[in-house]
Amino acid sequence: MGKSPLNRREFLKAGLTGLATTGAAAALLADELKKQKKTDKPADKNKLPEPPGGRQEGFIYRALGKTGIVLPVVCMGVMNTDSYELVRAALDAGLVHLDTAHNYLRGRSEEVIGQVVKGRPRDSFVVATKVPPGDGFNEKLDLSLKRLGLDYLDILYLHNLTKRDIALAPENMAMIEAAKKSGKARFIGVTTHANEPEVIRAAIEAKIYDVVLVGYNFRKDYIKELNAAIEEATSAGLGIIAMKTLAGGFWDKQRTQPINTKAALKWAMNNPNITTAVPGMTTFDQLKSNLEVVKDLKLTEQELQDLKLGQTANLSGLYCQGCQRCLPQCPKSLPIPDMMRAYMYAYGYRNLQAAHEVVTELNLPDNPCGGCDECSVNCAFKFNVRNRLVDINRLKTVPGDFFA
Ligand code: SF4
Ligand code: SF4
Repeated sequence: MGKSPLNRREFLKAGLTGLATTGAAAALLADELKKQKKTDKPADKNKLPEPPGGRQEGFIYRALGKTGIVLPVVCMGVMNTDSYELVRAALDAGLVHLDTAHNYLRGRSEEVIGQVVKGRPRDSFVVATKVPPGDGFNEKLDLSLKRLGLDYLDILYLHNLTKRDIALAPENMAMIEAAKKSGKARFIGVTTHANEPEVIRAAIEAKIYDVVLVGYNFRKDYIKELNAAIEEATSAGLGIIAMKTLAGGFWDKQRTQPINTKAALKWAMNNPNITTAVPGMTTFDQLKSNLEVVKDLKLTEQELQDLKLGQTANLSGLYCQGCQRCLPQCPKSLPIPDMMRAYMYAYGYRNLQAAHEVVTELNLPDNPCGGCDECSVNCAFKFNVRNRLVDINRLKTVPGDFFA
């Protein structure tokens, strides 16, 4: 049998060591220690319904809010791979939730999933996809279903929300609720990897959403606020799924300093309010590592040390936490967090197609920082924003068919 997930005390200990050593971290410890009376209990397997496809020996399972879905604590993000073999292997191994999006790999991700799940019992897997709100939502949803070869999605998300107003916009709510009522989605939700606490609280307020897919990892410097919002959401019956748990995969652009992604994944899933994570996998080695994590979330001393490498070696990493503090600092109001995300896709994920899509959609001028003598942005992670922005903006000039 696998070991139990960490209890709240262990979680906090582990979580805090991953944070910057600030007064905020100390205050977080004090606050959270007070809460320890209500110690988290590992999921009681006798009380949980059966997970899709049956229970795997040693896996840790958690319930997804009030949906009735039970999932292993690690599943699969299908953003960066179109390998049938890898997706099939993950599913066969029991990582039964496949997370994709309408635009991942220009639809190829959904097609691959469609081929892999074809012929399997419909209740043996859980598929989620994401469609951006706005024009063409219904057409995109129908195309996603077609590519997936499914009559319905298990979870349909409004993709990439950064503001409460978008989650609460009546037209957006009506659109996604209609999809649920029509039977095209069993459950609905929102995804957010910037300004997450605000979006999560809006999702609670809306009272129509079932799930939130949220960026969550050891690098967030506003983890206390994020944890509080997540806790409120779970108390309200929402299911929480984590993405971006690997924080970009590398500390440096040259990929000479990999993040200990196993440790990063464990760190994220030691928050008992998160049901599962959907780390993007591209190799069988990653799958093997994730199949170890799904049975054992305990962080070793070495792993905790590894997560502190950014601090000890003064590395800013590739991951932008989406805090948006840079936005008011740029006189040109450039969409810095989105461009930093594209930078991570390119150098961290090696997914040039995803990076290209973000960059071409934003369509900044060829010289976005032209006329600015000195960059006035003081990034929370000490990124050289100007260099990264100009660097990744070069992708704009590459025709899209190179990535088809
Ligand atoms: S670029 Fe830096 S300041 Fe801006 S959102 Fe990302 S981490 Fe925050
Ligand atoms: S150099 Fe910095 S402040 Fe100036 S436009 Fe570029 S990102 Fe904005």
